[in-house]
Amino acid sequence: MGRFGVALCLHRWRPKHRLGKRDAIIRDPSGYLVTGSDLFSEGRPPACWTLERQPFFLETSVPGSFAAGDVRHNSVKRVASAVGEGAMAVTFVHRYLEQLRSQRKLIGAVDRRL
Ligand SMILES: Cc1cc2nc3c(=O)[nH]c(=O)nc-3n(C[C@H](O)[C@H](O)[C@H](O)COP(=O)(O)OP(=O)(O)OC[C@H]3O[C@@H](n4cnc5c(N)ncnc54)[C@H](O)[C@@H]3O)c2cc1C
Repeated sequence: MGRFGVALCLHRWRPKHRLGKRDAIIRDPSGYLVTGSDLFSEGRPPACWTLERQPFFLETSVPGSFAAGDVRHNSVKRVASAVGEGAMAVTFVHRYLEQLRSQRKLIGAVDRRL
């Protein structure tokens, strides 16, 4: 928890990045970062997904890590789409941080009662 990021990169129609290679971010066989409902297999999230909620649309298999634009699996490889997804990713980052804040407040309230 507490990690978040936005990945934006692709060169010559193949992702040339090291994102996800040394962590739990799931990539498709071509190296694109898998997000949102594409992470599900037979209606189930991947084993590494630890949260009760489902991943947000642009969220990778690491909660709080988001991918937008060409680097994302199944994205439309167009400028307008990449820009739109980038803006959406920022919204999801805010939502994620807000959830973290709420959880910490809840934990703080429980701690004070104990
Ligand atoms: C030849 C060509 C023609 C195209 N023509 C059109 C067109 O006419 N209309 C259209 O809508 N789309 C077109 N596209 C597609 C469009 O360019 C892409 O969909 C769009 O640029 C994707 O934006 P992006 O931000 O996801 O990735 P990119 O534009 O590739 O931006 C990724 C950025 O991340 C940087 N980066 C990479 N790795 C790292 C790293 N490790 N750390 C920091 N920065 C990093 C890169 O240098 C790059 O600046 C074309 C693409 C190509 C290749």
